[in-house]
Amino acid sequence: MSVPSHLQIAIDGPAASGKTTVAFRLAQALGILYLDTGAMYRALAFLALRSGIDADNESALVRLWTAANVRVTLDADAPLGFRIVAAGAELDEATLQSNQVTAIVSTIAAHARVREAMVRSQREISAGGPVVMAGRDIGTVVLPFAQVKIFLTASVQARVERRRAQLLAAGDNISEHQLAQEIEERDRLDRERPVSPLAPAPDAHVVDSSSIGVDDVVSEIAGLVERAR
Ligand code: C5P
Repeated sequence: MSVPSHLQIAIDGPAASGKTTVAFRLAQALGILYLDTGAMYRALAFLALRSGIDADNESALVRLWTAANVRVTLDADAPLGFRIVAAGAELDEATLQSNQVTAIVSTIAAHARVREAMVRSQREISAGGPVVMAGRDIGTVVLPFAQVKIFLTASVQARVERRRAQLLAAGDNISEHQLAQEIEERDRLDRERPVSPLAPAPDAHVVDSSSIGVDDVVSEIAGLVERAR
């Protein structure tokens, strides 16, 4: 790993903190590409559910990732801003964001060898050009030399409200109580795992989006990018 020759922006933070929306909009504003790395862990969770592989079976999960020949490409014109193709089929948002996938993804993401495979692939992708990457370990592990690192947080209440609005728009009516439990449990698993736990990088700017809108968060980060260039 060495200092990148092009712009890298790392956006990490807990579940439903608005990372993906902010990262996508920031990439559009800067005219560069974007990847939500959570989608890769979700893709593996989906494949595991489909193949009946247990979320605790690290070796089988690593084999499954390789066997499915998962291809991730950055594409500003794709609905997600990138494409994930597994076993020849493109995975869409509904598949990646399903409740079944969400329920097991943090268990899958805790395995060291699963993370190794993901990080390798994410670094290869970042070598292609300027990028905004969102996740949990981007500033700490994947892109430690990123010129701008953001740790995006928000109160549990704000995150629950946002996630509930998103799910309602997709026709899914989940109670605030259930969503709060799901978000807090995923945060706990992500923060307490021994390998690459969720934590701000020492040089990250912590941005609390509890009471500011996406536009303001994006302009605040764009200002930091401008100063770092
Ligand atoms: O960002 P999203 O909520 O879609 O991520 C799903 C899960 O994938 C997280 O809860 C976390 O367990 C895992 N993840 C991770 N490292 C990343 C991105 C996501 O461990 N860089």
